[in-house]
Amino acid sequence: LAEKKKHDLVVVGSGPGGYVAAIKAAQLGFDTACVEKRGRAGGTCLNVGCIPSKALLNNSHLYHQMKHEAKQRGIDISGDVSVNVAQLQKAKDTSVKQLTGGIEMLFKKNGVTYYKGHGSFEDENNIKVSPVEGVEGSVTEETILEAKNIIVATGSEVTPFPGIKIDEERIVSSTGALSLKEVPKRLAIIGGGIIGLEMGSVYSRLGSKVSVVEFLPKIGATMDDEVASATQKFLKKQGFDFKLGTKVLSAERNGDVVNIEVENVKSGKKESLEADVLLVAIGRRPYIQGLNAEKLGLEVDKRGRLVIDEQFNTKFPHIKVIGDVTFGPMLAHKAEEEGIAAVEYLKEGHGHVNYANIPSVMYTHPEVAWVGKTEEQLKEAGISYKIGKFPFMANSRAKTNQDSDGFVKILIDAETERILGAHIIGPNAGEMIAEAGLALEYGASAEDVARVCHAHPTLSEAFKEANLAAYSKSINF
Ligand code: FAD
Ligand code: NAD
Repeated sequence: LAEKKKHDLVVVGSGPGGYVAAIKAAQLGFDTACVEKRGRAGGTCLNVGCIPSKALLNNSHLYHQMKHEAKQRGIDISGDVSVNVAQLQKAKDTSVKQLTGGIEMLFKKNGVTYYKGHGSFEDENNIKVSPVEGVEGSVTEETILEAKNIIVATGSEVTPFPGIKIDEERIVSSTGALSLKEVPKRLAIIGGGIIGLEMGSVYSRLGSKVSVVEFLPKIGATMDDEVASATQKFLKKQGFDFKLGTKVLSAERNGDVVNIEVENVKSGKKESLEADVLLVAIGRRPYIQGLNAEKLGLEVDKRGRLVIDEQFNTKFPHIKVIGDVTFGPMLAHKAEEEGIAAVEYLKEGHGHVNYANIPSVMYTHPEVAWVGKTEEQLKEAGISYKIGKFPFMANSRAKTNQDSDGFVKILIDAETERILGAHIIGPNAGEMIAEAGLALEYGASAEDVARVCHAHPTLSEAFKEANLAAYSKSINF
């Protein structure tokens, strides 16, 4: 007979949604358990997503700077600068291990019981944890967790491309792309979304010739159009080749090469491409395999997402769902916010996530970051707006750093001058967007921001000046 344990709350999945929910719940006094089958906490984000990709992005950027910019910056490096892929991977693994281990420590500190094993619904009040082969510390026998409340945070997985077989060697998903053993001479990418452009940047800096095939006529699907086309220009300058409005018909590995057939969506013109590695990055889909959600009759929509109401409830109010496995953008910080709010609903009966204020950041160089409405969304909604723009070329810190590509673009309501959207391409745009988020959350006008004293010389002065430009005139441009 399976061993039985009781908890106030059982969280299935330890990604940014699940682990944050578990810690918050324990802090609020719930006897909390978290079940994870991967063997390491942190989910997609820490193991095969945000963290390893940023480790590679950071170090490939350093390499590129040393190789191509050091001399002109007055740094002489004796001998050639070269890449040691094994060490690059080791540095990435060290960051991942430290952070995933950190979550286990946080679980201990906050009193969260951590079960390593596969979680599935036995019924609406019981989660069965089954041993997972090869996972160190896995439960050794089936364990039943009787739970007053359950949060499902099982995340997402790579969307497969019908007919293309991923071997994680020559034809890879993001997971394989994060662990290549050598730098491919030619890297082809299906999908000009965030994964394609971030991983493309890594390998382009390390010396790959990168070609992106994108179905839509623009890259970065949800970006403001002007920002997307500026982004495409800087990536092109860095050596990217783009085939937009192009669909992939097939791809096949033949020995050490991958042959790809593509077709222009408008003209129907076909073309054959050859690459050493092909990255398939056409999105992610919700993951509920083996969860037994169907046994409970939990509703799943056409896109595979678990259906919930605005309080994260399934048809059972004590079973909530958060993160990538349900509606909304597939972002770590969105999952985290939902984790906190779902637990607050359980404890206090109310919680809050402002879906109109979730930032997006693409960690290329320069970075691209945005929050709120795009120009296209404002036009479609019939809202009249004004634009304030300020280029980093006119920002003293960016000039000093010789890193001045990009601009800040602020969209404000034409009448009230309230900020509606912020779009930034530039160095550290991902940090700067937090200021826009704060302004949006508190309903600031452009003038409110422009009258805040910003330190000099900082990149954030560009944000202030763009706000000034939105309702009046900038000083330095
Ligand atoms: P996940 O992180 O997917 O975690 C779910 C966990 O549940 C997994 O560990 C899984 O093993 C476990 N699980 C599933 N089923 C069971 C079960 N039955 N029993 C036990 N455990 C189970 N987002 C950002 O915001 N910023 C970024 O820079 C960023 N970069 C990314 C880069 C890449 C290459 C990828 C692939 C994604 C990136 N993302 C980024 C997206 C981000 O990783 C996800 O949005 C985020 O991880 C979602 O969190 P989650 O908790 O919903 O699910
Ligand atoms: P995405 O949705 O960002 O981009 C996929 C792209 O592939 C789109 O532009 C789409 O038009 C294109 N596409 C789809 N089908 C195609 C086809 N048949 N042929 C050619 N192009 C096709 O998805 P992604 O880049 O795979 O990323 C997955 C998720 O991970 C996203 O939700 C993203 O938010 C998240 N992520 C976030 C970050 C970050 O926040 N920095 C980084 C990486 C991933």
